[in-house]
Amino acid sequence: MVAQVILKPKRDKNIRAHHPWVFSGAIHKVNGKPQLGDTVLVESAEGQVLGMGAWSPESQIQVRMWSFTVCELDEAFFHAKVRAALDYRKALGIPERNTAYRLINAESDGLPGFTVDVVGDWLIMQALTAGAERWKYMLADVLLTELHCKGVYERSDVEVRHKEGLDPVVGVLRGEKPPAHIDIVEEGRYYRVDVLNGHKTGFYLDQRDNRSLLQAYAQDKTVLNCFSYTGGFAIAALKGGAKQAINIDASQPALELAAQSAELNGFNAEQMDNINADVFKLLRQYRDEGRQFDIVVLDPPKFAENKNQLEKAARGYKDINLLGFKLLRPNGLLFTFSCSGLMDSNLFQKIVADAAVDAGCEGRIIRKMDQATDHPTRLAFPEGYYLKGLICQK
Ligand code: SAH
Repeated sequence: MVAQVILKPKRDKNIRAHHPWVFSGAIHKVNGKPQLGDTVLVESAEGQVLGMGAWSPESQIQVRMWSFTVCELDEAFFHAKVRAALDYRKALGIPERNTAYRLINAESDGLPGFTVDVVGDWLIMQALTAGAERWKYMLADVLLTELHCKGVYERSDVEVRHKEGLDPVVGVLRGEKPPAHIDIVEEGRYYRVDVLNGHKTGFYLDQRDNRSLLQAYAQDKTVLNCFSYTGGFAIAALKGGAKQAINIDASQPALELAAQSAELNGFNAEQMDNINADVFKLLRQYRDEGRQFDIVVLDPPKFAENKNQLEKAARGYKDINLLGFKLLRPNGLLFTFSCSGLMDSNLFQKIVADAAVDAGCEGRIIRKMDQATDHPTRLAFPEGYYLKGLICQK
């Protein structure tokens, strides 16, 4: 018998609007004894069936909806989701021009808890929730047949799994283990990716479109790429004809991959500097030395993991953006980002505006940026939107 999760009166609105999360506070009672990751039936207080979801008793989000109708979770179900996700990306021409892209973007592709990235001949999966944990092998089987890849590798080595009562885990799900390095092509740019030990699934695919934007502005420019990771923006800048690019990151392995990617693209070693340093400190040093650049990129890690950290995050953004403006030549361009979902676009823009004032410059926005189109946001699930950026001219 499938357990039933009965919502409190008037708490069915979100689910009816196809928002996929049921918070514990919305639940009136549970009929049956569902276990971690079991599929449950969700019903309104009046007894109307609203759909099926995965039971996550340890999380505040106790049910994540698989479907807003009654259905079987079987191969056909996952097949349809994968097919739809692939068709969407094919329609945008993404797989044609990129050997790495996000294939499954969790809730926004109808598969809560799952992210799957294509990286060359491999698929890299994160299963972040109890429901995803339950079905990850079935999804891996479907992916293997649908994508004709060499293997599906899991990189669920993330702390958020603890919130679901799950331990972090990595390893082969199906097929062969990926090699230490995979070389990918992104819009004509070559990158070396470490899917085994790199951040997340190895590469920040969400910045693809913004790297292409930078490329278009880079001719003859000097570029300071802060929080560079493996030099994504620096490679794009050099591809666009930049004179020189400097990567700053705290991860030495990431910087080594940046140097290798430069070689893959045929750039001279002198065109790219890779500096292992704390951005906050090095930018101050550069300011004191009076150094100036044509383009500064600021793509820091998530500063706010929860609401309590928002104020501190705001100070962090203000600090680096102020330094960024100072290090720009007149008319120079600041590419500035926030990947904290909790930091909304308006607040971020306000922080950048404050930073410009404090840096003693006017500044204007010449473009707003978003996460790449293979990271779509479902209208019913605005939480899926997290990456925003501004190109500001000094
Ligand atoms: N722009 C990159 C992604 C950046 S991810 C791309 O397009 O691929 C954020 C990076 O910031 C990580 O590589 C992390 O190592 C680095 N980082 C975090 N805190 C840092 C600090 N204080 N100083 C330097 N690098 C830092």
